[in-house]
Amino acid sequence: MTQQFIARDKINELVFDYIQEGVMVTDSNGTILSVNPAFQVVTGYSAKEAIGKQPNILRSGIHDSNFYNQMWNKIRSDGVWSGEVWNKRKNGDLYPEWLTILAVKDKSGSVTQYVGVFTDITNQKTAEEELKKLAHRDPLTGMANRYSFNVRTKSLIETSASFGQKLALFFLDLDRFKQVNDTFGHKAGDDLLVDMSNRIKSLLGNKDFIARLGGDEFSIALANIRHPREAFQLAEAIIQSFEKPFVISGHDIYMSTSIGISFFPEDGEDIDTLLVKADKAMYESKQNGRNQFSAYHEEMENENKETLTMEMELRQAIDREELTINYQPQIHLKTKKVAGIEALIRWNNRHYGRVSPEKFIPLAEETGLINSIGEWVLTKVCRDLKTLMQFGFDDVPIAVNVSPLQFLQGNFVETVRRILNQENVPAQLLDLEVTESTVMPDAKKSVHRLNELKNLGCKLSIDDFGTGYSSLSYLRRFPIDNLKIDKSFIQSIDQYEDDASIVEAIITMAHRLHLKVIAEGAESKRQIQFLYAESCDYVQGFYYSKPLVFSDLVDFLYKDLTEQIE
Ligand code: C2E
Ligand code: MG
Ligand code: MG
Repeated sequence: MTQQFIARDKINELVFDYIQEGVMVTDSNGTILSVNPAFQVVTGYSAKEAIGKQPNILRSGIHDSNFYNQMWNKIRSDGVWSGEVWNKRKNGDLYPEWLTILAVKDKSGSVTQYVGVFTDITNQKTAEEELKKLAHRDPLTGMANRYSFNVRTKSLIETSASFGQKLALFFLDLDRFKQVNDTFGHKAGDDLLVDMSNRIKSLLGNKDFIARLGGDEFSIALANIRHPREAFQLAEAIIQSFEKPFVISGHDIYMSTSIGISFFPEDGEDIDTLLVKADKAMYESKQNGRNQFSAYHEEMENENKETLTMEMELRQAIDREELTINYQPQIHLKTKKVAGIEALIRWNNRHYGRVSPEKFIPLAEETGLINSIGEWVLTKVCRDLKTLMQFGFDDVPIAVNVSPLQFLQGNFVETVRRILNQENVPAQLLDLEVTESTVMPDAKKSVHRLNELKNLGCKLSIDDFGTGYSSLSYLRRFPIDNLKIDKSFIQSIDQYEDDASIVEAIITMAHRLHLKVIAEGAESKRQIQFLYAESCDYVQGFYYSKPLVFSDLVDFLYKDLTEQIE
């Protein structure tokens, strides 16, 4: 008998020492009596450190008291409990374990000891995570798949709703992707999808979320946007990022994408509605010629949305070649010859028709689009100057309007220089018009900038003179050539004596400062006669010519050569 007991104790001991599971024995009060080597390996506590302590040295803080209460209730009623517990190692790391606790009772049924046996299941957990990832991710691009997109976007929408935030949902579809697959094979198609998803991912902020919905369709959720503009800017950036070709197995593949955008809460309150609407908007982008974005616009009646739509249209105006330039001649009053020309931008939009620059230039300024529009104007004007030079008109400068935002850009002078060089046009043929309100607020800085432009060789004019506030002392310091009197004064010359004397005074003063004067907006013979009598140098107005398309300008210049303008 004794022999047998010894053998059993020995076996118990062996098992206790060599078993892979951690084992901990406590007394009925939970004070640790003994632990095995596996316990020490997993928890980091030595037997010496653990014995005499309570098992709560291992508590991770992840489970609440409810969790432990239920565990102990089960042990008291059934004598055993098993489950997953997150514990904390001595070094502070948290780890998941599968734990079984047994109550050891004496003959009378009272608990004498508790035995806890546990397995560290960290590795198993990692494998589970991997599996989960597979089920929730698109294996090709590593992006979320439709399933997890739905789950996550739903919760994003809930959050947005409770915090009153805006959310944008994009629907992206590649243009003519099938052609790539058909021409270069499916492997190339896959590689392209991977490349393009990386390009898009690099443009997203960490609050944005992208998923591959299937095939060549993607969706992006932009949470907590302050203004729809943020969505438009991203859409634009995505479209631009596709301008460079994708290099797939040695081939340059050009790919573009069409994007549709819907907004929460304006366009819908649930993910399905928002996706359907973004999809519709995407379809409109395709219809309008692909490689562009559209926002869902059924509910765009109110003015706010109207401006947004206009902004979106304006963003794409250059690419769609909706912008053109009209040219208005400036006539030298004494000789009646064309002495200069002003370039005036025109926008003819597919939805709005002709939009006045008075309306869209402010919008372009507000949104920063003026910089790219301004560059476009400068380039176009230089090209037309080149053509005029080829026709033999090599001494008529063209004036370009420069908006304050452009003028204040750090690299404006550099931009002008670059474009002149690029188009190989002499700087003295470019006249830059700035308004008083552009140069006056920071007159000191303006003097410096104007000097830089003057040093390039450009002509400089102050536009709309008389409407802003001017400091005469500064006007003297500005290296300008022309003063353009605002058309409001010219048009009321006949009616208001005061305006006539203002015009008179401006002309006198300008001449003292050795500036030439251009009168804007002269429409009648009487106005011309008055301006002539006051020795105004040039006139730009409907009386001589409306702004003309380029070919009509060329005709006008030829006419000017052969006949005297009335
Ligand atoms: P602005 O620079 O003062 O241009 C003169 C405006 O007066 C032009 O209006 C022109 O068409 C108009 N005008 C000329 N002669 C007459 C006339 O006899 N009677 C009347 N009633 N109007 C006349 P437009 O083309 O509508 O341009 C309006 C403004 O838009 C321009 O005023 C300028 O500030 C801005 N703008 C035009 N093109 C550009 C551009 O390329 N860039 C920038 N930043 N602004 C531009
Ligand atoms: Mg002007
Ligand atoms: Mg003007």
